Amino acid sequence: MTLHAKITGYADPALHAAGLYIGGKWRKGDGIAVMNPSTGEKLAEVADASVEDAMRAVDAAEAAASGWRATPARQRSEILRRWFQLMTQHAEELATLIALENGKALPDARGEVAYAAEFFRWYAEEAVRVPGEYRHTPSGSHHILVDHEPIGIAVLITPWNFPAAMATRKIGPALAAGCTVILKPASETPLTAYAMARLGEEAGVPPGVVNVLTTSKPGAVTNAMLADPRVRKLSFTGSTGVGRTLLAEAAKSVVSCSMELGGNAPFLVFDDADLEAALDGAMIAKMRNAGEACTAANRFYVQAGIHGAFVAGLTARMAALKVGPGYDPATQCGPMITTNAVRKIDRLVTDAIALGARVTTGGKPLAENGYFYPPTVLENVPTDAAIAREEIFGPVAPVYRFESEEDAIRLANDTEYGLAAYIYSQDLKRAMRVGKQLETGMLGINRGLMSDPAAPFGGVKQSGLGREGGVTGILEFMEAKYYAVDY
Ligand code: NAP
Repeated sequence: MTLHAKITGYADPALHAAGLYIGGKWRKGDGIAVMNPSTGEKLAEVADASVEDAMRAVDAAEAAASGWRATPARQRSEILRRWFQLMTQHAEELATLIALENGKALPDARGEVAYAAEFFRWYAEEAVRVPGEYRHTPSGSHHILVDHEPIGIAVLITPWNFPAAMATRKIGPALAAGCTVILKPASETPLTAYAMARLGEEAGVPPGVVNVLTTSKPGAVTNAMLADPRVRKLSFTGSTGVGRTLLAEAAKSVVSCSMELGGNAPFLVFDDADLEAALDGAMIAKMRNAGEACTAANRFYVQAGIHGAFVAGLTARMAALKVGPGYDPATQCGPMITTNAVRKIDRLVTDAIALGARVTTGGKPLAENGYFYPPTVLENVPTDAAIAREEIFGPVAPVYRFESEEDAIRLANDTEYGLAAYIYSQDLKRAMRVGKQLETGMLGINRGLMSDPAAPFGGVKQSGLGREGGVTGILEFMEAKYYAVDY
C-alpha cells in the first residue's frame, strides 16, 4: 500500500506525539499508545496527563479567559475563519491521519474533515450575531433587556468515532461565544486533536484559549476539573453510560452540561418508498464510518410489501463493499476501532441468529487481525433481540418486517434512545404524520444523512441534553443576563 508515501506534514503521527498542549506550550510525554486498527500496530505514543496537568490546563484557560472574552467578536470570528481555511488547506493530511488512527475509509475521513472545518466557518459567522432581547413588561411600566455572556471555562470531552468533527463542533461555538476551553479527546484517536491544535496556533488562537490533554485516567482528571469552581461548562459527546456518570459528577458543582450521547436509530421504509432511493439512503445511514456513528441506522423496519425487494437490494450492495485498511484508497469499509468492538458486534449477531435471524451476507468476524467485521445483513430478526436494544456500532443491518403505520411507530419508539430516525416514503403527508410521532431529536425524510453544521444536532430521551450546531449551538456556551431597567 501507498501508506508511507502519503505520510507527510500534518499526517505524520510522530509530529503529534509532542502533546500535552497547555497554555500555548507543548509538553512531551508518553504513556498512551495510539494504534492503527488497520494493522494492529502502534502508530505513536502520546502524553498521559495527571490531575495536576489538568489543573495547569484550568489555570491556563483562566489566564486567557478575560483577554479572549474582551477580544472583539469580529476578531474572534476571523481567527475561526483562518482555522477553517487551514483545515481545508491541510484536508488531505488530516484525512490520512484520521484514517490511520481511527481506521475509517479515506472517503469517510475526507468527508469528516470537510464537515469538521465547516463548524469553524459556521461559528466564525455566528460569533458576530449573538442575539439579545428588548421587551416591555406586561404591565407596560418597565423594560426587559437580555444579554448573552460567555459561560466561562468549558471542558470538552470527545469520542473516537469523529476525532475532528466532534472537537470542532464544540470548540467552534465555545470560542465564538468568548469561552476558553480544555479539550480531552478519546485515547484511541488523540493525534487528530493535536494536529488541529497546531493549526489553531497557526490561525492565531492565543495561548491558553484552547488546551488539549490526553489521559489514561479520564474519570479522575475530569472530576478534578469539574470540582474547580472556575469550570462552568461540560460539553460531552460519547456513550450514554459515561454521560450519566458525568451528569452526576457535574451536579456536585452545578456545572452546566451539554450531552451528545448514544443512539439506536430506526430506519422506516414504507411500501410506497422509492426503492432505489431507500437503498441509497440505507447505505449512507448504515455504512458511513463502517457503522461507527451515533446516527447510524441501527434497526431497519420495512413494510411487508417492499420487504423482500429491500432485503435483496441491501444484501447485494452490502456484499459488494470492499473491506480493507482505512488508508487504502480502494477501501469502502475499514476496520472497527478495537478488537473489543468486533467481539461486541459478534455477540449481538450470534445472539440474533440463535433467536431465529437469517444471515443474507456476512455474519462472522473476518480472520485477518481481529479488527475487521464484514458488511452484514440479517432478516427475520426478533424485535426483542439484544441487537434491537443496543448500539451495534458496526456494519450490521438488522431488518424487521412491519405491517401497519401504527406498528412502525410503536417499534421505532421502543427504545430509551432518541437521537436520529429515518423515513422513506413518497407520500410526504404520511412521512410528516409519522415523523411527528417519532421520539427523536433529528429526522431524515427521504435522506440518509442529516449532519449539517447549520442545523441543531442532538437527541431526546437518553440520547442527550442540548443541541450542537445551528443558530442555537452558540448559546450552549453562554448565559443569559437579564437587566431590569427603569429609566
Ligand atoms: P465513551 O466510552 O463514552 O468515551 C467518550 C469520551 O469520554 C472519551 O474521550 C473517553 O475517554 C471519555 N471518558 C470515558 N470515561 C470517562 C469518565 N469517567 N469521565 C470522563 N471522561 C470519560 O464513548 P466512545 O466509545 O468514545 O464513543 C462512542 C459513543 O459515543 C457511542 O455511544 C456513540 O453513540 C456516542 N456518540 C454520540 C454522538 C452524538 O452526537 N450524540 C456523536 C458521536 C458519538 P477515553 O477514550 O480515555 O476512555
